[in-house]
Amino acid sequence: MSVKSTNENDIAPSQEIFRRYGFAMEPSTLAQLCKYHDFLQNENLKMNLTAVEETEEIYEKHFVDSLMLGKTIDLDSKSLLDVGSGAGFPGVPLKIVHPDIELTIVDSTRKRIRFLENLRGLLGLSFTLHHGRIEEFDRSNTYDIVVARAVARLNTLLELCLPFVKVGGMFVAYKGREYQEEIEASVGAMETLGGRLGRVDVFDVAGATRALIHVEKIKQTPAKYPREFKHIKKNPL
Ligand code: SAM
Repeated sequence: MSVKSTNENDIAPSQEIFRRYGFAMEPSTLAQLCKYHDFLQNENLKMNLTAVEETEEIYEKHFVDSLMLGKTIDLDSKSLLDVGSGAGFPGVPLKIVHPDIELTIVDSTRKRIRFLENLRGLLGLSFTLHHGRIEEFDRSNTYDIVVARAVARLNTLLELCLPFVKVGGMFVAYKGREYQEEIEASVGAMETLGGRLGRVDVFDVAGATRALIHVEKIKQTPAKYPREFKHIKKNPL
């Protein structure tokens, strides 16, 4: 794989973008994010990884947006599951900036998992990758924090993700401006699955409203969840 090497001139523009959002990064961290950007842009020419193609947009809409979670909760030394990570969002930028996170990614698309394997090698990162659907993942795997961005509506996401959160842990959904409506439609699902609505942090990235919906896991999720996807789709909670 051919990716250009990163030097100080490459990292300067990205440093300015992160500063704008209140992130002060070490040069080595910026260099990792810069390499990630270059690899994503190159590979995106060969396969469909992201609709976000311009450099500044990749930094803001993918990297900055992913990293906002680190401003709202303490991630260090936590186990974190990213469901439907696609080209690595939000899990991989979080792992780069908080290297003590124990990251696991589950995604149902083989080519995206292959991209993430190559990215992991390129950046010398350590995280676990599983190709498959989350509703078929072994429920004995539980995590301090489970995250998902752009995978499904909140009521469906809760069924897919809350079973894998440890009691006392947290599920965090990355959502857009219709977050309030999604929360209102998910009150029953939260209760059924052992969750309780926590903080909702709202911020602006690249001129768009973004929301981090925190759902605390207060009791065990009944063993029958998550159901097969056809049942979730036909009869959502
Ligand atoms: N989270 C990334 C982001 O925000 O850029 C990717 C979003 S992409 C629109 C949705 C991803 O979720 C795809 O890579 C797809 O393969 C994955 N996905 C959808 N349903 C899934 C499921 N039930 N289990 C695992 N992965 C799933």
